[in-house]
Amino acid sequence: MDNLQPLFPTVDSTKPIIIAGPCSAETEQQVLETARGLAANGIKIFRAGIWKPRTHPGGFEGVGEAGLAWLAKVKEETGMLTATEVANSQHVALALEARVDALWIGARTSANPFAMQEIADALAAAGRDVPVLVKNPVNPDLELWIGAMQRIYNAGIRRIGAIHRGFSAYGRHLYRNLPQWRIPIELRRRFPELPVFCDPSHIGGKRELIAPISQQALDMSFSGLIIESHCDPDCAWSDKTQQITPEVLNFILHTLVLRDKSTSTESLALLRQQIDRIDDELLELLDKRMRVAREIGHYKQEHSMPVIQAGRYNDLMQRRVATAEEMGMSPDFMRSVLAAIHEESVRQQIEIVNGHPLEK
Ligand code: PEP
Ligand code: MN
Repeated sequence: MDNLQPLFPTVDSTKPIIIAGPCSAETEQQVLETARGLAANGIKIFRAGIWKPRTHPGGFEGVGEAGLAWLAKVKEETGMLTATEVANSQHVALALEARVDALWIGARTSANPFAMQEIADALAAAGRDVPVLVKNPVNPDLELWIGAMQRIYNAGIRRIGAIHRGFSAYGRHLYRNLPQWRIPIELRRRFPELPVFCDPSHIGGKRELIAPISQQALDMSFSGLIIESHCDPDCAWSDKTQQITPEVLNFILHTLVLRDKSTSTESLALLRQQIDRIDDELLELLDKRMRVAREIGHYKQEHSMPVIQAGRYNDLMQRRVATAEEMGMSPDFMRSVLAAIHEESVRQQIEIVNGHPLEK
């Protein structure tokens, strides 16, 4: 995805870009009242879902086409840009015809390559360079997310952004959708020019989590936030536990700390050199460890011993995790580091014992 163009050229992007508005457009009055509150607080991009993908039939599935006229009124009255969710070619055609300024693709849709291709084809047919924001698929699959954006890119769209809205997981958790930050971080490593927004409303699922999640995203230099805001959240027809009034949103935005990207990075450069050196040392140590593991592999082969001895692995894991915890590192982190190192040792030993590489 080369040559991406600024998503919203008329909006100041030296600061995080804020998109806000209700989960769903419900009535003309609710849309306009919310939009007025947001515009009064300086919000430049208004979101509202009019086609809502619901888990169960019978839930509120959005007002549909009627909402397009309300979005047009928002634009006319407040000057805000408007954005809505599209999930098929008909939505794309209708939204573009109604001059909606930006489209987003929901998490259930971006998980479906057929739907993504249908949307991409509709965009190509329309030939308009409208900004398209692609939410991560519901499941934590970075390639599926990237593939969804590539389809949009291949349709000729150059104003593409990603939205991190967390990943669904079975059972009850603190978050409605687990953030799994390493996935958007890896996305940004692979596509440094791609703007990535954070959606703290759908990650947290609760009003009180919006501020802390937003702060984390800003600390990681996300390009912006998309936050659900409703003039009367307790009476919202969808996602009411996570919507906040424009006033509360304004308060939160003022409490967020914007890290200054332009401050001198000299002392940072020195610290980064240290990190580079330590990483080199880590690599050398890992190489040393693998060599010993291979020697053990030869020994096991000569004595016809099995490669994996579960007792030893468990014991090693428990001791190292406990030490790491004492040092202030998270046990989960240490478990995944050790599991990865162990997996590679086993792979190398099996290659020695079998005389050929382990099938992936
Ligand atoms: C939404 O933005 O209201 C929405 C339906 O989000 P998601 O696709 O992330 O669930
Ligand atoms: Mn919602």
